[in-house]
Amino acid sequence: MVTVKTMKRWFTSLTVVAFILAAAIFNWSLLVSSKKPSDMEIAFVSDKAQHYSETGDEKLASTAQVPFPSMDVTNINTLDEALIKIQELEKRLKDIEYRIPKKYPEVKFLTFKDRKRILITGGAGFVGSHLVDRLMMEGHEVIVVDNFFTGRKRNVEHWIGHENFELIHHDIVNPLYIEADQVYHLASPASPPHYMYNPVKTIKTNTVGTINVLGLAKRVGARVLIASTSEVYGDPEVHPQTESYWGHVNPIGPRACYDEAKRVSETLAYSYHRQENVEVRVARIFNTYGPRMHMNDGRVVSNFILQALTGQDITIYGSGKQTRSFQYVSDLVDGLIKLQNSNYSLPVNLGNPEEHTITEFAMIIHKMVGGKSHIVNKDAVEDDPQRRKPDITRAKHVLGWEPSVSLQTGIEKTVRYFRKELMRSKHSERNLHIPVDVSNINV
Ligand code: NAD
Ligand code: UDP
Ligand code: UDP
Repeated sequence: MVTVKTMKRWFTSLTVVAFILAAAIFNWSLLVSSKKPSDMEIAFVSDKAQHYSETGDEKLASTAQVPFPSMDVTNINTLDEALIKIQELEKRLKDIEYRIPKKYPEVKFLTFKDRKRILITGGAGFVGSHLVDRLMMEGHEVIVVDNFFTGRKRNVEHWIGHENFELIHHDIVNPLYIEADQVYHLASPASPPHYMYNPVKTIKTNTVGTINVLGLAKRVGARVLIASTSEVYGDPEVHPQTESYWGHVNPIGPRACYDEAKRVSETLAYSYHRQENVEVRVARIFNTYGPRMHMNDGRVVSNFILQALTGQDITIYGSGKQTRSFQYVSDLVDGLIKLQNSNYSLPVNLGNPEEHTITEFAMIIHKMVGGKSHIVNKDAVEDDPQRRKPDITRAKHVLGWEPSVSLQTGIEKTVRYFRKELMRSKHSERNLHIPVDVSNINV
């Protein structure tokens, strides 16, 4: 039987609960309306959104875009007020957990037999991070080793915490003892200003670092792919460059720290192969571009796009008659994976054979980006290779590989990425860029 007394007690309890709820909602709504998100909070959520859109996950990008309000925890005088605040904080934590997705792109499932442990040195760099994405999506276990000289955690952040992924902060000039089935040895600065910044370190990374990688491969029986370069051909006298050409390199010039060190890296690979039976693959990579390349690496693609986007002069070094052939990064990643898994152990050129003079390239970028930039000529840089175009007959023949992304499509994607990066640097000074002018580097 429900007595009047019991009903009164229920009524009182309900009133108290209703009052607490009303107070909580009122307090929360005041906080939401009065407190704007701080710049740091906006930067944080935008960073997340940028990441997911880079990896193509627009759904995750949009969930990460909503900034959340800050909480004012001053003016708490009573225990009840404190309890209410605690409840609000708990609710906010749940909101944050919900809004910062822990979801990873869905990777393919591979059985133990097919799944490989793949070590990528330099995996936080431009090329490395795209390779990480591809191999992770294929269902492999990926271990990135990087000293973050030119790479960034942000390039691989979207995989941190995934059970198949590991990021190790390590300088490959020092020995490394881990297990792997395959190694992609990409660790090395790649653009002229970066590799000329500390030439001795560039040499150590590509010689001592390569010895450590090959020593590791020898110990664990792994296959190693060395990221070599078209720079091994120097300023070539043979055009287009075939793998059988031995090159024309100045051993004491400003580029020698990179060119000669990469040549030694190749020599080491084949010496470990002959002497220690280490399985090696050598990719001679030609100029590559795409999203995640450094804004301020001083390379022609990044310089021209940035200059066009910001209305600065587009700077051609020398006459502009020198040529390059530009390959989009996804084509390179395809080629690297095909080469690693092929039966072919001699060097293979990976590049796009479509050749342009630098003046033509400046005009292409100027037209595609628009804007008011002027194209200007500056002093030539020392030992600048005058013609570069890969002969990819070997890659076609032994790998069944050839580039498929047109310059138009690749540049459009890269310009889109650079635009986003420029917007990002408005609220965070971190990515402030000053294009490096190689012609001013004293060598
Ligand atoms: P990148 O500078 O973006 O990446 C290189 C990565 O190596 C960075 O993450 C850097 O921090 C890391 N690294 C450098 N020294 C290291 C060390 N001692 N220990 C550990 N990590 C170290 O350059 P990228 O364009 O991605 O080039 C990757 C590889 O491809 C390089 O070996 C480069 O020589 C080769 N390559 C690139 C191009 C190109 O056009 N991008 C052309 C030819 C060859
Ligand atoms: N090394 C390494 N990780 C390994 C095995 C070797 O970093 O798992 C390094 C080792 O420190 C050595 C180098 O690789 O300096 C070359 O190894 P190798 O076995 O060829 O030479 P050795 O140790 O006989 O000098
Ligand atoms: N270059 C240029 N303006 C720039 C940057 C580069 O004219 O702002 C030229 C450079 O002199 C070279 C070509 O573009 O002839 C490619 O240079 P990059 O540094 O991209 O790569 P490289 O192929 O020389 O390693």
